Amino acid sequence: MGNGLIVSISGPSGVGKGTVIERLREMLPDSGRSISATSRAPRGEEKDGVEYYFRTREEFEKMIADGEIVEYDQYVGNYYGTPLTPLLTMSQGGQDVLLDLTVPGSLALKEKFDETVTIFLLPPSFEELRNRLVGRGTETEDLVEKRLSEARGEIEKAPKFDYVVTNRSVEQAADEIAAIMLAEHCRYQRRSVEVDTLLAE
Ligand code: 5GP
Repeated sequence: MGNGLIVSISGPSGVGKGTVIERLREMLPDSGRSISATSRAPRGEEKDGVEYYFRTREEFEKMIADGEIVEYDQYVGNYYGTPLTPLLTMSQGGQDVLLDLTVPGSLALKEKFDETVTIFLLPPSFEELRNRLVGRGTETEDLVEKRLSEARGEIEKAPKFDYVVTNRSVEQAADEIAAIMLAEHCRYQRRSVEVDTLLAE
């Protein structure tokens, strides 16, 4: 069996990444989930080893120094990073792995593993993004403006991604990402054994 795909999805805060990835996981129940390490505190019912590996900043920095983290970034003052070994184990075991990373995180992972498929999730418009950020009700007016200006900077990085999907609806965005994954599986490099086997008949 060939390696599974490593699919990294990024997009600005409020674009609906979490919901789209949740829908994709329902559609692709065999896909693997990378559990990130973070220095942020657990929220609500979050448990260590389920949503994240919750670590202190010192522990996180030791993981980086020990080469256990394949990419990491800081977001709102906390570290977030992808543990290397589980990612390789899942991918080499033939599982497609879906990751939800910051924009620099996706680009760093692609640098490390050229075969990473990077997908940028785009809001339909800034107006829609603002509505979604306001609708969450968790951000003050100032923070909404800050997130919107950050979003512009992130969207400027979209040309570095392999694919762009606009989140007009969760269903459509998840369908488009599943289609990208199907097409990636059909790439010649992934099918070359089948071609060779046929030619050897
Ligand atoms: P939250 O604190 O809301 O759970 O996550 C904040 C952000 O961290 C999300 O936008 C998510 O994309 C990003 N993130 C989560 N895990 C990782 C990781 O392992 N690496 C990077 N670069 N970003 C991550």
